[in-house]
Amino acid sequence: MNCEICGTNRNLDQHHVESRGMGGSKNLAVHADANIITLCRTCHQRIHEGGWELHRSQDLLRVVDRRTGQEVMRRASAHGFDPSVLFNLLNIMDRSLVEALSLVTYLDDDQLVELFRACRSLGKRAWMLQAAVLHEAQQRSVYGARSLEAVARRFEISVRQAEKYALVWRLFFAGENPDASDGQARENVNIDAFSLEEPSWYVVAATESPEPRRWLAYAQDRKAEDPRYSISAFRSDIHQALGEAATVIESEPDNPTAFAERILWDCPWVKPYCRRSGRPVPAEDCPCEKDGDLSAEACN
Ligand SMILES: [Zn+2]
Ligand SMILES: [Zn+2]
Repeated sequence: MNCEICGTNRNLDQHHVESRGMGGSKNLAVHADANIITLCRTCHQRIHEGGWELHRSQDLLRVVDRRTGQEVMRRASAHGFDPSVLFNLLNIMDRSLVEALSLVTYLDDDQLVELFRACRSLGKRAWMLQAAVLHEAQQRSVYGARSLEAVARRFEISVRQAEKYALVWRLFFAGENPDASDGQARENVNIDAFSLEEPSWYVVAATESPEPRRWLAYAQDRKAEDPRYSISAFRSDIHQALGEAATVIESEPDNPTAFAERILWDCPWVKPYCRRSGRPVPAEDCPCEKDGDLSAEACN
């Protein structure tokens, strides 16, 4: 038995989700097993005295802080869920890898190239599963980052690092399910929204830029135009845009419109690209630039 909120196995109580009321209830539903939840003393007290609100449905347990409206934790459960299904999938991946190794010798030259490309992509995307684990651990962490800390400690990564990956997962892959009501746990997972493979693009966009999804899309465009576009170039693009925005705030603190205009103007997405031909191309490669009849300003 463990506390269903924080997972500890010490000092456990039984809590009635629908309250018994003063002096006990005659209503049988209140005493039914489905209405009883195992909680540790600390979590139990928070429910009764600390402003925590318990939301429980068939496949989702959520705790919301009534005072701030913020979600404290959530833990999903699926009726009849068999974890061996997931571990079997991993086994299959593992076995496929071994089997594939023994077949490499029979490929022709082009297929060798194709296989190498596929392997690289596979290897680069494996981190997404880890990010999903860290995000999940964070969702059920109460009293600080307890569950996340446990994973981080076991695998010798810093909690800060673990938080970054959890953040990346939340920002870029765990799309809110528009049809999800309170009782539905499953989030839409969309790993095809972005094509960049290395985690560093995501981490930099998530932790260093003001608008992570927009900046990641920007990096993706740049990378598609120029495969040599690097993470450090991406970083300096972000910092340059932020630095210029800060300068404008300093020089024109009372003029918010000028600020907004400058932000747009300084956006590196707009500046180095010409949209005249319909599709953004680097300004220097743009035909209208080559004609020599347009200034950079007209090009924007
Ligand atoms: Zn607890
Ligand atoms: Zn209680």
